[in-house]
Amino acid sequence: MPTNGMANPTNCNTLSAEPVSIHTDAVIIGAGPVGLFQAFQLGLHGIACHIIDALPYIGGQPAQLYPDKPIYDIPGIPCCTGLELVQRLEQQISPFAPALHLGQQVTTLERAADKHRLLLGTTAGLRLAARCVFIAAGVGAFVPRPLKAEGLDSLAPGQVQYHPSDFACASGQHIIIQGSDTSAVQAALTCVQQAASVTLLHRRDSFTAPPALLDALQQQRMTGQIHVAIGQITRVQADAHGKLRAVTLLDSNGQTQQMDANLLLAWPGISPRLGALANWELRLDNKQLVVNTADFQTSQAGIYAVGDINTYPGKRKLILCGFHEATLAAFAAAEYLSGQPVALQYTTSSTQLQKRLGI
Ligand SMILES: Cc1cc2nc3c(=O)[nH]c(=O)nc-3n(C[C@H](O)[C@H](O)[C@H](O)COP(=O)(O)OP(=O)(O)OC[C@H]3O[C@@H](n4cnc5c(N)ncnc54)[C@H](O)[C@@H]3O)c2cc1C
Repeated sequence: MPTNGMANPTNCNTLSAEPVSIHTDAVIIGAGPVGLFQAFQLGLHGIACHIIDALPYIGGQPAQLYPDKPIYDIPGIPCCTGLELVQRLEQQISPFAPALHLGQQVTTLERAADKHRLLLGTTAGLRLAARCVFIAAGVGAFVPRPLKAEGLDSLAPGQVQYHPSDFACASGQHIIIQGSDTSAVQAALTCVQQAASVTLLHRRDSFTAPPALLDALQQQRMTGQIHVAIGQITRVQADAHGKLRAVTLLDSNGQTQQMDANLLLAWPGISPRLGALANWELRLDNKQLVVNTADFQTSQAGIYAVGDINTYPGKRKLILCGFHEATLAAFAAAEYLSGQPVALQYTTSSTQLQKRLGI
C-alpha cells in the first residue's frame, strides 16, 4: 500500500469554537475491513457517510499488518490476501462513494449543545457534525511511533515530518532521513536531487528495499551524494525560532557526533494507539467499547461500535463477526435516524436496494 502523509502523533486538536465544515448523517471512524463494510451496509439503507482513518490508505490491519498473507475464513472467498480483501471491499462500497478522509486521527467526539448532533474533530483540522457515528477503530489508530530525543519539544511545527509523501520542503536543505525501509531509501534518492545534503540515518548499516533501490543507494553513497550515518538521535538543537539547526547522534560504540541539519524526515514505524477514544465518555471494559448485541450501540445513543474495538459476551475478533455487527448496527441506525421500523429487504429482489447499488 502507498505510504504517504501520516497524521503527526503529536498533533491534538480540540473542537473549541472552530466552525464545522461537514454536516452528514453518518461518520465512520476507521477504514479497516469492518469500517468499510459498515459504509456498504449504510449505503443499502440510503445513508451517506464519511470515513476517517489515521492511515493514509484504507484497509486497517489486513492492509497494514498482513497485506500478502492469505485469509481463509471469509464467507464465499476460499482464499484471498489481506490486500485482495481490501480491494474487494473497496469495489463493493464504490456505488455509495463514501467520502474518505485519510491520514488523520479523530481526536474529539462530543455531543453538540442541541443534544442530537455529534461533533468530531481530527488532527488535520477537519470538523464534522453527524447524526450518528460508527466507531470501527480496531486495535486503535495506526500512527507513527514518535521519536524520542532531548529538545524535540522546542522545534517548530514541520521541522520533523513523519512518513511524508511530499518532498518539496527538501529544496536547499540539509536533510536527515531516519529509517531503513523502502520509503526511507526512496525518500533519500528523491531528496538528493534538490537538497543541499542528504544523510540517511539508521541504527545499523542495513536497509530493506527492492534491489534496484539498494543499487541506486549504493551508487549515490559511492559518489558522496548520500551520506549514511549509523546511530540514533539523542538530542536536537533549535534556534530561537524553533528551526532545526543540528542533531546529536550516538553510535553503537557509545561515541557521539554532532551533525548540522535543517529538516528531519522520519520513518520510525507504525503502531496502533487507542488515543483519545478513552476520553469520549463511552463505557469501556478493558479498553474495549461495551455494546449490546441487538444494535451494537455503545453507552450513548447514536454512537455504535463494530469490529475489534467492541466487547460483549462471546465476542470474537474476526472479520466475519465485524461484518455481522456492521449489518445490525446499520439497521439500528436507519431506525434511529428515521424514527420508524425498517423492513428487511433482499438485494436479490429489492428494486430499491438495486437502485441504490446502481444496478
Ligand atoms: C496477522 C493477523 C492475521 C489475521 N488473520 C485473520 C483471519 O485470517 N481472519 C479473520 O477473520 N481475522 C484475522 N485477523 C484479525 C482481523 O484483521 C481483525 O479482526 C480486523 O482487521 C478487524 O477489523 P476492524 O475494521 O474492526 O479494525 P482494523 O482492521 O484494526 O482497522 C481499524 C482502523 O481504524 C483506524 N483508527 C482507529 N482509531 C482511529 C481514530 N481515532 N481516528 C482515525 N482512525 C482510527 C486505524 O488506523 C485502522 O486503520 C488477523 C489479524 C492479524 C494481526
